[in-house]
Amino acid sequence: MNISIIGTGYVGLVTGVCLADLGNEVTCIDIDDKKVNLLNNAIPTIYEEGLEELLKKNVTNNNIKFTTDFSTINNSEIIYITVGTPENENGEANLKYVYNAIDKIIENLKNDAIIIMKSTVPIGTNDLIEKRIKKLENKYKIDIVSNPEFLAQGTAINDTFNASRIVLGVNNKDVQNQLKKLYEPFKQPILFMDRASAELVKYASNTFLALKISFINEIANLSERIGADIKDVTKGMSYDERIGKKFLNAGLGYGGSCFPKDTKALLKIAEKSDVDLLTIKSTVDINEKQKYRLINKINEKGFKLENKKVAILGLSFKPNTDDIREAPSIKNIEKLLELGSNVSVYDPLVNGKIKEIFNDSIEYFNTPEKALEGADYCFVLTEWEQIRNISSETFISSMSTPIIFDGRNCLNLKGNSNIEYYGIGR
Ligand code: NAD
Repeated sequence: MNISIIGTGYVGLVTGVCLADLGNEVTCIDIDDKKVNLLNNAIPTIYEEGLEELLKKNVTNNNIKFTTDFSTINNSEIIYITVGTPENENGEANLKYVYNAIDKIIENLKNDAIIIMKSTVPIGTNDLIEKRIKKLENKYKIDIVSNPEFLAQGTAINDTFNASRIVLGVNNKDVQNQLKKLYEPFKQPILFMDRASAELVKYASNTFLALKISFINEIANLSERIGADIKDVTKGMSYDERIGKKFLNAGLGYGGSCFPKDTKALLKIAEKSDVDLLTIKSTVDINEKQKYRLINKINEKGFKLENKKVAILGLSFKPNTDDIREAPSIKNIEKLLELGSNVSVYDPLVNGKIKEIFNDSIEYFNTPEKALEGADYCFVLTEWEQIRNISSETFISSMSTPIIFDGRNCLNLKGNSNIEYYGIGR
């Protein structure tokens, strides 16, 4: 099939290379010409396992190309929209990039096509887009489909080829048949429903996962007070299949480009319909507090932060991604600097991105050992494998005093008599 994808970020690029790899002719359009140039030379603009090989293969085979030229959408049977929908100041989803993309389609498209919305948009947005298109364009038949994306950064290629489900909000039988043809090679369950339900599936799924995280963080904070160990508590819970074990790791809460904005956007959507989503409100509140759990712990213990050296290990919002959007590291560094600490950091991938924010106000190191040198405290903020594997001897020999605050409960140091170790909920 001839496919255009508008927006070549985490979702657009991964979707593009996977569809190209299945033999479709894919054109990815972005407004960022630097990105487009790199991608045409098969240089990945994001880090995702397996992306580089897949990109190289499909650029070489001419199955995928990248451009800033919107006129290339002509002859496309399918046009995906995968632009960002970041948070507005009031918590609503900002749809300016989506509407810019739609206007470009209206300006340039000269044939019938199906527009597939993969960006996460508030319920009713695709109906509004349909009205906008109908008002401006009556020569061609354009159908709008809601197709929320469920990939997770860090496992995005695998998630695309092995998704748990493909949700398609579309009523028209002809369009359903064309989409079946497009998605059959993925061999995944396809769920057809109306557009509003499909749009809500995305928000409900993300907020439910966020709720699990906030729930277990509350139980972790209780565990600490009553002398329980949250790791044992979650292990005990997880044997019940109704509960499961995923998204029940106590820590510093959720970050990234999706959960923080989608939880708040759903609250706004509900507010407009006069519905009070109490669980989601609490989810957001708990998460806001949880980011600062390690600093609060230090205060509770009466330890000083002023003029102390804090080594931060892990800066991306989770392991195996180069994304720092809403990463707890940013808020923690800001707060530590405000409290007069000296901060040194290590991350296997994103030191450069963090340097764009903090410049020379903190020190950046390419190895954990160097970041830990002479530190009074260590904060573990991301459970990269390189960090999980640091030996107790490294902490002891590198730090001035081996006091470790493990914000991801990923180090096996509890009970080590030579280290003062504090986890979350244990
Ligand atoms: P991103 O910020 O990584 O990428 C967006 C891209 O769109 C950028 O390259 C930007 O230059 C481009 N862009 C902006 N306006 C444009 C326009 N008018 N025309 C062409 N290109 C334009 O965003 P992302 O993380 O890929 O997220 C995209 C959408 O998918 C969001 O709605 C997000 O909520 C949703 N989503 C993201 C993930 C994820 O893990 N990142 C998962 C599921 C759903």
